[in-house]
Amino acid sequence: DNFEVELEERNYVRQVKNVLFSKVLPTPLQTTVKLVAVSSDLLENVLDLDKSISETEHFLTFVSGNTILPGSIPISHRYGGHQFGEWSDQLGDGRAHLLGEYVNRNGDRWELQLKGSGLTPYSRRGDGRAVLRSSIREFLCSEAMYHLGIPTSRALSVIVSGDPVWRDQFYDGHAKTEKAAVVLRLAKSWFRIGSLEILAMKREIKLLRRLTDFVIENYFPSIDISDENKYLSLFSEIVSQTADLMARWMSVGFAHGVMNTDNFSLLSITIDYGPFGFLDDYNPSFIPNTSDDEGMYSYENQPDIGHFNMNRLRAALWPLWNNKQKQLSEMILQGYIDIYKTRFMEIFRGKLGFLSTDDKDEYIIGLLLKMMEDTRTDFTMTFRQLGNLTFQHIQNNNVSDALWALKTLQLHEKWNNWLQLYYARITSEDDTDVKRMNRMNNVNPKYILRYWMAESAIRKAEDNDFSEVQKLLEILQAPYTEQLDMEPTGYADRPPEWSKKLKVSCSS
Ligand code: AMP
Ligand code: MG
Ligand code: MG
Repeated sequence: DNFEVELEERNYVRQVKNVLFSKVLPTPLQTTVKLVAVSSDLLENVLDLDKSISETEHFLTFVSGNTILPGSIPISHRYGGHQFGEWSDQLGDGRAHLLGEYVNRNGDRWELQLKGSGLTPYSRRGDGRAVLRSSIREFLCSEAMYHLGIPTSRALSVIVSGDPVWRDQFYDGHAKTEKAAVVLRLAKSWFRIGSLEILAMKREIKLLRRLTDFVIENYFPSIDISDENKYLSLFSEIVSQTADLMARWMSVGFAHGVMNTDNFSLLSITIDYGPFGFLDDYNPSFIPNTSDDEGMYSYENQPDIGHFNMNRLRAALWPLWNNKQKQLSEMILQGYIDIYKTRFMEIFRGKLGFLSTDDKDEYIIGLLLKMMEDTRTDFTMTFRQLGNLTFQHIQNNNVSDALWALKTLQLHEKWNNWLQLYYARITSEDDTDVKRMNRMNNVNPKYILRYWMAESAIRKAEDNDFSEVQKLLEILQAPYTEQLDMEPTGYADRPPEWSKKLKVSCSS
């Protein structure tokens, strides 16, 4: 009965000790709330709900944090993290509330979390809110990544209110008010490397052991909880899954933007979409986040940062290991690089339509990337359009004008050379045009969330027109499928000139 009183009393910003969570209610919004978008795929296939529920007032108040379901005890998670290489001490869910866990008809457990839902003990100097632009970007990208087949958190909905929030704007550096928005996010678990780091750093070893055991028991069924090497097995699993995730990010031209250890999931799913970006032109040193002056989290640095973060995870698990295990963990960490390279090669072989493995593959892939870099060719469409070439096209260097990315690539002095190598490579296999082209189209997306696409949807949404958000969601739900009815809108064309100036900062 006095739960709410208790929550009120606890609800202030502070350093928190020896716990994983703090009970704290979302702060209701003061002005009228509107639904911007909802993922019906998630609603129907994960939450077992009928699409029509999203039109109800009850749904709207629930996903905005204005009402709490009976029995739900909202909590915010205490975690720490290394930000840009430095230990930042306590961070935590500064604007997120975990509402509870839902077990669906398949027996899958999902954690429902609000983001932008108000102050928590972990808000530090923040206001606990999120703005519409960054909420739309997180919503669209979560769903886009999922449908690309990349492990990720999901997003059910975005709502917007008239409540004002102050933010520095990325284009003119001046603060102005924006509208508060809330995203309802889902993940199998929201635990991060930083969840363990804070416990190790604060010498809360009992709790560290408890949380690590919990993670193993709930999310790593292949690890035997009575095995004395279980923490080593856990480390090994996370190292290989993270190496895999990095290879997948690279394969779709995704740059996360803020790869701090508090944004790195223990389940190796992509979480915390902030100033991320997808490559348009292939530029390996692409930095999506304007606040990242040094380019620490540039596209090409991601595999290395993944390795750095695994070393931070190793440090967090250190107190749970004996000397022998500490030594072995060093070898596991070293294995990251090989696993990453192997996965990278596997995925890129697939992108080029190869069935087998060949010594020449590294050279063929490397030279292609070099040519793309030299000519600043569109990353996504180069691979997509290579999948439109028949054996004959390749043999005769016959590239139609419609294949605009390859037209640019053709200008490179090594193009003919490369095409011959490519031809020799694919004709060395027992394969057909139809089969190869089909395989390539199933791994090389045609539609990704380009800066200009998100920006167009955001501009309309700021004016209360949410149609473009919904339209992008639909397109990005089938990134590998030709959606010819959508083509006139240019989603698979060269990005417009104005989009080259678009930038995204940490302000969100
Ligand atoms: P991020 O870099 O977005 O992962 O955020 C780093 C930390 O800052 C996390 O602990 C966030 O919860 C917190 N944070 C970010 N924005 C806000 C905000 N507007 N209010 C409170 N905390 C925030
Ligand atoms: Mg974060
Ligand atoms: Mg963030």
